[in-house]
Amino acid sequence: MITASREGILQLIIDLVKIPGITRTPEEAKMGLAILEKLKSIPWVKDHPKSIIDLKLPDDPWERRLVGCLLRAEPPKAETIILTGHYDVVGVDDFGPLRHLAFSPMEYTRAITGTNLEEEVLRDLASGEYLFGRGIMDMKAGLAVEMALLAEASANPLNLGANILFLAVPDEEDSSEGMRAAARFLGELREKEGLEYRGAILTEPSSAGTSGAEKEAIFTGTMGKLMPFFYCLGSGSHVGQYYQGLNATLLASCVNNLMEGSARFVESAGRDKTPPPACLSLRDIRKCYSVTLPDRAVAFYNLMTLRRAPAEIMKDLKDLAEQAFRNALKQVERSAGEWLAGKRPEFEPRVMSFEDFLSELDGTVGDVKSLVRRKAAELEKGLDDRDKSLALLGELCDLRPSSEPLIIVGFLPPWYPHRANTGESPSDRP
Ligand SMILES: [Zn+2]
Repeated sequence: MITASREGILQLIIDLVKIPGITRTPEEAKMGLAILEKLKSIPWVKDHPKSIIDLKLPDDPWERRLVGCLLRAEPPKAETIILTGHYDVVGVDDFGPLRHLAFSPMEYTRAITGTNLEEEVLRDLASGEYLFGRGIMDMKAGLAVEMALLAEASANPLNLGANILFLAVPDEEDSSEGMRAAARFLGELREKEGLEYRGAILTEPSSAGTSGAEKEAIFTGTMGKLMPFFYCLGSGSHVGQYYQGLNATLLASCVNNLMEGSARFVESAGRDKTPPPACLSLRDIRKCYSVTLPDRAVAFYNLMTLRRAPAEIMKDLKDLAEQAFRNALKQVERSAGEWLAGKRPEFEPRVMSFEDFLSELDGTVGDVKSLVRRKAAELEKGLDDRDKSLALLGELCDLRPSSEPLIIVGFLPPWYPHRANTGESPSDRP
């Protein structure tokens, strides 16, 4: 039973937090099932079992599912409001010695009272209005509020001006497989049920751009996110013949010097401004220890967007990679000038988008697209999407006819396009 009172919502939050639901663990699937059970306890849902949404993610090793409910207004209406959120949470290592209490908010809140904490947290604790624990704010509380709203609205569907579609998804903290599957499902459901989506409310907490704000904030849109990568192919040589090769890590560091925190990629729209790009990973790629210059390295970045499309950003990324390549060569040049007499290979700065790299490969190995599909199917299932993409790229690089140093620039998954409510179309207006 779900009750839409303060006490009812609090109890629901505690019940939802109790099930860990850590991303990409068997617990995550249990979280989806627990939400389903709660929904099935709503009297209207008992009378309308077909309203339940229970859809397994395709080919998912953890058997996670989209769970929810479509509450139809009476008499029937097309207009539909979506209430959504994610039910997975991140791990609990940062809870330290109290990690066994992370999913018991009452006990955890009592346990941290009186400990050495920041002043703001102590104030919140003293007020008695705050509950701490893994997943409370992000975002079981949001889901509980939506589920309580759904239960309350279902008591009288005659009063509803629109259908309410509640949909909870897994995997937000990793690759958003839940919401990506939901996007397709929502499209299909719209056709099948003749729905017209008028709005979607996400009860995810956020302080973006409003740090320290005391009052409630509503965001009428979302920033986009891209993950550009720079795959650097140097030229391996024994460290004793340093100037015969080109260290791929030098290329990657030069990319990072220009890319990390670069204002060139900051975008603004209205009062909103994106944070600058941040490196998420910078590493050499090789299977074992060796006293040779690493010939492969990669760096990839979090890059938020508000206005620009990937193609436009790609142009800037390629320019940056070319500059980085020249900087790397200059550094070697300076070093060689001081230390080396004699001949050494001349390297030219070469930069290519992943798309162009594929077309070039197509000319040499033929039908590169089916080769990519075949190799992708052979990759270990359950491997992180970034690692999968880079492993695939590594195999494609093995097929290059040339061994010239090169930086390949592309985007890793996931990609989230930005969306803004500009108030331009009738359905954008409140
Ligand atoms: Zn979240």
